[in-house]
Order: sequence, then structure tokens, then C-alpha cells
Amino acid sequence: MIVILKRDHNPEQLESLVNWLQEKGIAIHTSIGEANTILGLVGDTSKLDIDLIAALDIVEDVKRVQEPYKNANRKFHPEDTVIPVRDTWIGGGSLTIMAGPCSVESEEQVVAIARAVKASGATMLRGGAFKPRTSPYAFQGLGETGLEYLKAARAETGLPIVTELMDITQLPLFKDVDVIQIGARNMQNFDLLKAVGHQDKPVMIKRGMSATYEEWLMSAEYVMAGGNENVILCERGIRTFESYTRNTLDLAAIPVLRKLTHLPIIVDPSHATGKYWLVEPLAMAAVAAGADGLQIEVHNDPEHALCDGPQSLKPDTFDPLARKLLSLHSVVSGLEGQA
Ligand code: PEP
Ligand code: MN
Repeated sequence: MIVILKRDHNPEQLESLVNWLQEKGIAIHTSIGEANTILGLVGDTSKLDIDLIAALDIVEDVKRVQEPYKNANRKFHPEDTVIPVRDTWIGGGSLTIMAGPCSVESEEQVVAIARAVKASGATMLRGGAFKPRTSPYAFQGLGETGLEYLKAARAETGLPIVTELMDITQLPLFKDVDVIQIGARNMQNFDLLKAVGHQDKPVMIKRGMSATYEEWLMSAEYVMAGGNENVILCERGIRTFESYTRNTLDLAAIPVLRKLTHLPIIVDPSHATGKYWLVEPLAMAAVAAGADGLQIEVHNDPEHALCDGPQSLKPDTFDPLARKLLSLHSVVSGLEGQA
């Protein structure tokens, strides 16, 4: 349920409404926007008398929210969420470009890639230290050492680091990571989602391969219900009957999520296609469709990459792409609001 307050509402009356709701076991999420203040009510609102609340002096309108996701719902929070990460931010009209190798392979590798992508305009460094591999015989990542190498690359370039957390037991190692990635395969690992909801680092949730928008938003809701509102959604392709590409990029997810939620939306064209030459057109399409950013795999020697070489760009192909993405983004931002 949402309660829209009148512009000039009396603060004492608001306090007594809030107290009354809290006594009934309802949690309240307040969103102060330019136009209105909205109270988002989470809990069992079925017994609340909607007419009684609507009749209060300070209340403009009351609406029931049918969707099961509440904190993630745009109705609760009409303005876009902007997530600060070190000297940059995700959302709010900016274009975030996360770039880097699929897996951290050595300190030299990740530092060299970080330097290159930074020079091209990337705003964050991605790289897996703990890797969810389909085969138990494939490279599983450097683990804790990989995290150290990522931090070295951050110290060198200033780029914030985004890396995947696979298991709750690894969480203490992620204290110094900037954005915690929850991989597609863990999108519905609810204990993991609860754990990252109880800490305050931004969490990027990649869409499960067969997840609906609602299931994906419910994963965001798990994190937010724990108190962490810094959630980012990442579309990385879903499984369809088409086998030419690794997955099928669902571009419609961008405008649909924009409507349903206030959370920032990142697109990963690398895992979505599995082919390096498809990364550029789909990255451009994602920006044109209004994405808040991209996650792109870049490797200095894709032929010898320990993971996902075929979908990785070389720094010299990433460079013109990053520039095109930034130009396209400024055109798209300029068009917004035009009739
Ligand atoms: C990754 O980004 O390294 C990754 C494994 O992606 P996904 O979870 O989307 O497959
Ligand atoms: Mn990968």
C-alpha cells in the first residue's frame, strides 16, 4: 500500500500516523520526491482500513500495491535510485561502463586491462575471483588472491571494483569490494540474497537464465527487505530456443524495468551473446533503449583467456566502442523529454 501525503502536511499528524502504522507491525519506507512525499507500507496491510487512512487530513491518496515487490517498486519510490560508488555513481542519468576480464588471471593481466579500459572511458573494473563454472574441471578463479589483484588494479587506476560473491562464507573477504555481483546462477539463492541485504555495499543482481521480471525483482526485494537499498539489476540474456548466441538479450527488459522499478539497469552484452562481434551492436542497442550502464568483458589476450575468451573484446576494440557508447548516451539523454 502507498500513502501519498498532501504537500503541506502537518509533521505531528504524520508522526502519529507513522506510530499507529508501526504499532500494527507495518514497516514504512518514506520517499521524499520533488512533487510528493510517499509512504510505502510493507507488511500485512490487508487489515488496514484504506478509507480511514484516506480520510486523514494529511493524506492526498491511498493505493494498494498489487505487485509482491514493494521496496523495489516504482510506486514506492517514483524517482530513480542513484547509487554512489567511490567517486562515481550508478543511475541518475549517468552511463556506467564496467569493463574487465571474465576472470582475474594474474596481477599483471588485471592491472594492464584496468589501465587500458580506464583510458577508454570505463568507470568501473569487473573481474571474477570466484567463478561459477558449468564444469568442475574448468578454471574456478583465483579466489582470495584474485580479490587482492583487483584491489591492486583499483589502487593503480582508481576504478571501483565489481566482483562476484558465490557463497555466504566468502562475504568477510568482500569488505573492501565496491559492488558485490550476484551471478545469474545465484539469483534465487535466497540465503545469499539475505546476507547481502544485511550489509551496505551495493549489490548487482544478474538476471537468472530463466527468470521472469517479477522473480528478478523479488530477488532485489530480498536484498532490500534486509535494509540494503543499493541494488542494481543486470540483464545478461536469457535462455531461449535459439542456440546461435549463448543467450538471448532481452532488450525489452530495459523499458519494462524502468516502468516497474526505480533501480538502475545495467546490460551485459558479453554473456548475452557469447560472441565478441555481437557485443558492440547490442551494447549500442542497450544504450539506445535507456540502460544506465553496461558490463563488458575485455581481455588483453582473448585467445588464451582462461574463461570466456570468445566473447571478450581486446582493449583496442573496446576503446572505440566506449567512445561511441558515451556519444550515443549523450544523444539519447538529449532526446529525453523532447516531444
Ligand atoms: C560473470 O559476469 O562473470 C558471470 C558469470 O555472469 P553471469 O552470472 O551473468 O553468467
Ligand atoms: Mn564471463
